[in-house]
Amino acid sequence: MFAWLRRRRAAPAVPEDLWRATLARYPFLAARAPAEQERLRALSAEFLARKEFHGANGLVITDEIAVAIAAQAVLPVLHLGLGWYDDFVGIVVHPAEVLARRTETDDSGVVHAWEEVLAGEAMEGGPVMLNWRDVAHAGASADAGFNVVIHEFVHKIDMRDGAPDGCPPLRSRQAREHWLRVMGEAYQPFREAVIKAERFGEERPWLDDYGASSIDEFFAVACEAYFVNRERFTREFPALVDLFDSFYRPRSSP
Ligand SMILES: [Zn+2]
Repeated sequence: MFAWLRRRRAAPAVPEDLWRATLARYPFLAARAPAEQERLRALSAEFLARKEFHGANGLVITDEIAVAIAAQAVLPVLHLGLGWYDDFVGIVVHPAEVLARRTETDDSGVVHAWEEVLAGEAMEGGPVMLNWRDVAHAGASADAGFNVVIHEFVHKIDMRDGAPDGCPPLRSRQAREHWLRVMGEAYQPFREAVIKAERFGEERPWLDDYGASSIDEFFAVACEAYFVNRERFTREFPALVDLFDSFYRPRSSP
């Protein structure tokens, strides 16, 4: 088939009952303005037509699972377009978190092996891995600003221009410098607060501790909260709301 013809063929719409059930499951989607919800639904349908889901460890991918993931995955690119995700097709879904074996050889040749619990993973130019248990609970975990789908898809956006560095591809060097400065001004105090909480039992800051591990993880973690709990995120990180709006809502749409 000719490419233009394929592009013109509209993806089948997400069925009404399935879409309503998805909105009911995720109040942070249902709270969007009607025009945004329509765009979400249309983009979700396109996403479903372009991506391939694979169930792992016995998980069978149902329509419910596929639409739940699609509706959250397209949230970051609602005003940017699906082109941001065109470097991969596969989405692997496990029933629950995955125990991954890691090995690393240090400079003196000693091999270190450890196990890591993964809620999800995004590979540069490769597939996204998620776990259904966390995806299914994303409605309740929005209070804490958690969202595994948004986390991994923001990594994909970050990696569009190479290794993740906490900054998406931007138009100019100045824009990038500005981005990294504003991010750093939010990241450093957050990281210090997490360290103080761990070492001295001080109050833990709001937002997933995992964001304190590196600037790129902080970017992914902050975006989770920005998309699912904007109200609290605005109180905690006002400078990041403006920064993220400038990227995710480039035409300053409402
Ligand atoms: Zn991450």
